[in-house]
Amino acid sequence: MQDKGISISALYQGLSKGEDLTLNNPVLIQGWVRTNRNSKAIGFLEINDGSCFKGIQVVYDDKLENFDAVTHYLTGACLSVRGELVLTPGMKQPFEVHASSVTLLGDASEDYPLQKKRHSLEYLREIAHLRPRTNTFSAVFRVRSVLARAIHEYFMDNGFVYVHTPCITGNDAEGAGQVFTVVTDAEDPYKDFYGKKASLTVSGQLHVESFALAFGKVYTFGPTFRAEKSNTTRHASEFWMIEPEMAFADLDDDMDVMEGCLKYCISYVLDKCPDEMEFFDKFVAPGTIEKLKNVLAKDFVRLDYTDGIKYLEEAVKNGHKFDNSKIEWGMDLQSEHEKYLTEEVVKGPLFLKNYPAAIKAFYMKLNPDGKTVAAVDCLVPGEGEIIGGSQREDDYEKLKAKMATQENPESLEWYLNLRKWGGCVHSGFGIGFDRLLMYITGMANIRDTEPYPRTFGNLKY
Ligand code: ATP
Repeated sequence: MQDKGISISALYQGLSKGEDLTLNNPVLIQGWVRTNRNSKAIGFLEINDGSCFKGIQVVYDDKLENFDAVTHYLTGACLSVRGELVLTPGMKQPFEVHASSVTLLGDASEDYPLQKKRHSLEYLREIAHLRPRTNTFSAVFRVRSVLARAIHEYFMDNGFVYVHTPCITGNDAEGAGQVFTVVTDAEDPYKDFYGKKASLTVSGQLHVESFALAFGKVYTFGPTFRAEKSNTTRHASEFWMIEPEMAFADLDDDMDVMEGCLKYCISYVLDKCPDEMEFFDKFVAPGTIEKLKNVLAKDFVRLDYTDGIKYLEEAVKNGHKFDNSKIEWGMDLQSEHEKYLTEEVVKGPLFLKNYPAAIKAFYMKLNPDGKTVAAVDCLVPGEGEIIGGSQREDDYEKLKAKMATQENPESLEWYLNLRKWGGCVHSGFGIGFDRLLMYITGMANIRDTEPYPRTFGNLKY
């Protein structure tokens, strides 16, 4: 067994609980060198062990038998330090370690790509295997982990069952995006492994719906794949989605859960990651914390698409310029329109609902007006759409007619049949996890929220 010592986060936790940290002396700290400054007889190492955002300062002097060697340890080296923990109230950090021994576990040579200077995000993307050791990515990936936990806690605490929907699917029309085909024999993909066409899933929704009709409340949270050749800052070809589905729930119930979930996730991250969030607020996207607190403070406004169109028409009449100023009922709103509604009209989070059927997916519930569907997008200031959901069509004949317009509807016969065997009013929604993380951290590019991003033309690592 390796002696693991104490983590820096345990020291900070002890401090906040008012424990006497010096009782645990001597301590053993293991981590990676961020900086090493020294003079003739004394040196200062900044060590980060990854257990929390903050590092710890290690003070060493020429009483160490390997003092000279320690002065040459470079940024990136992995060290084990034993020493006395000394409280330093009033200093930049509340405690430091006075080293009695410093052992080199793994050297880092001079060509270590992360030096003390600030590196651009583009440069760091090229060294995705090392960037978690930077402040920015230490913050991003810890928040990613905490946010994933928030999602699970929210749904599990509210009685949802977590379902692992498959990554490989035989469904032809999951209703969104371009698919990746799965083959082992590129010569004959259709008679391949499964004896039929197989794809990577673009959404777990259809599979998870059947579980809602058994468990009542369910969610899936896993990877999805879209072969979109969109080279934007917001599209990845592999990303994670959260898709809850609820039986006995209409569109209003759906919106309640969306609002509850989003607020829970935001307050969870603000509460659990104060150092990371302060870092984002200071160095990545000033105003992020205030933006998030505003979402927490507001009741989300609920507005019909038709009324949204009226506001946009009014705006154009009053001289507001959109890139696309041809506003008409039936149009698919662009992000500039969505942002205008949430930022200028309601000045807060907004549910825009009851969209024209023609621009929404086949499985959405047709409203009594015969031309709109019970679909909803949740729009937030600074972002636009962050969640999309709908009440599902539960009428067998109506769904069948809609499905007939899809490619290869036979592959979804099982889905249609759910309406025949104990169907009920049910609703659900989808949150792009990586987009949610972008919103919460203020990181502007999806490539900087995923450990190893996969995007059009890029499959490094
Ligand atoms: P967009 O219009 O941005 O391409 P979409 O309308 O196709 O997205 P949906 O099919 O509604 O997206 O998917 C649900 C959620 O998944 C979206 O709200 C978004 O958060 C996320 N999402 C969709 N496509 C991508 C992608 N390529 N990369 C990352 N997240 C995505």
